[in-house]
Amino acid sequence: MFEQFDLDSELLASIKELGYKKPTSIQTLVIPPAMAGKDILASAPTGTGKTAAFLLPIAQHLLDYPRTQPGFPRVLILTPTRELAIQIGGDSDNLTKLTKIKTGVITGGVNYGSHADILNSTTDILVATPGRLLEYIENEQFDAREIEILVLDEADRMLDLGFSEAINRIVGEARWRKQTMLFSATLEGAGVIRFAKEVLNEPEFLESNPSRKEKAKIHQWLHLADSAPHKLNLLVNTLKQQGVERTVVFANKRETVQYLSGKLYAEELPCVWLEGKMPQDKRNKAIERFKSGEVKVLVATDVAARGLDIDNITHVINFDLPRKVDIYVHRIGRTGRAGAKGTAISLVEAHDMSVVGKIERYQSERLQRRVIETLRPKNKEARVANKKAKIKLTTAQKKAKAKKQAKKKVKQTKMKS
Ligand code: AMP
Repeated sequence: MFEQFDLDSELLASIKELGYKKPTSIQTLVIPPAMAGKDILASAPTGTGKTAAFLLPIAQHLLDYPRTQPGFPRVLILTPTRELAIQIGGDSDNLTKLTKIKTGVITGGVNYGSHADILNSTTDILVATPGRLLEYIENEQFDAREIEILVLDEADRMLDLGFSEAINRIVGEARWRKQTMLFSATLEGAGVIRFAKEVLNEPEFLESNPSRKEKAKIHQWLHLADSAPHKLNLLVNTLKQQGVERTVVFANKRETVQYLSGKLYAEELPCVWLEGKMPQDKRNKAIERFKSGEVKVLVATDVAARGLDIDNITHVINFDLPRKVDIYVHRIGRTGRAGAKGTAISLVEAHDMSVVGKIERYQSERLQRRVIETLRPKNKEARVANKKAKIKLTTAQKKAKAKKQAKKKVKQTKMKS
């Protein structure tokens, strides 16, 4: 129950209106320490309710300590993409609509004039992408020294997108802050951990452990494929099946996205596609056609699909399996949102099997193998040796091991003689 947290009635009323019945696991973990003012380091993929996990403590802080004079924003939320920033801005408006808290969104890809209102009037919570915000800081149009709470959302993605320098600069500018919260889909990468150590102060380390019910929302399976053309046939067959409605197809390369969209059109499967360097208006148009249901398939690379927040995605298909587990987790997290069931299907060639092994170890669960009878693979599943992770020993442990081995040797020699 949300009543267990010490939230003002205006916030509880908005939560009720949004239809949230009880807190998700990440909300239960994050809200109490965040309300106590602690720094937070949390792993939470999108779809787990992480946005409200940081927005509610932020809103409560602003209500507890109301602003006494106009000024620059007191809370800054940095996100990797425009879509995610807009999404968080909307969530913030919804959660704080019965209060006087004002939220603004600043991102690239829109003209500079449209931010004048946010920069010149009093905004409490600012959601921004790092690049454009840094420009405003450098032009002295924005002052980050009034920031009290800083949130780094999807920190792993921001680092992947090459924002680390911009973020470091902004973090430096916001040096008077009292609290920092860092959210990342996984905390696997060394980059995120190193970065977290630099920006956080004795953080609470929180890992969302979605309940079985939350986990069970996404059905995952794979099809073994002999080659890229075989994968294409599997993709077309899957997309033509009943119940495959709103589908995001992931490819690892831009060229593959273009190749696939051509092939799907030839199969009378209209689709839209996204690529990283697309002009914003073209991108918006493509997203809109997919969102409105005009086309049911969206083909994209990971970079292009970052931050995309579209509800009711029924299927995620990995035409190419990503090379890293955290990207897989991110991709499949796009389906099965807000209680809906989702399906994630991976088309897997022999060279992908080592990644399959990593995914299965990470999830402690074998991905089910499925076969489409007419497209049965000719090759058997490639076996990959399960390399045991080498454990680093401390000097003391090394000495103990050497001693043990020496003893064993003595015993063996004694036995022989
Ligand atoms: P997020 O991970 O923050 O992107 O949230 C994923 C979706 O879950 C969004 O559509 C939220 O509106 C929704 N949501 C967040 N918290 C809850 C909750 N406690 N109960 C139900 N839905 C929620």
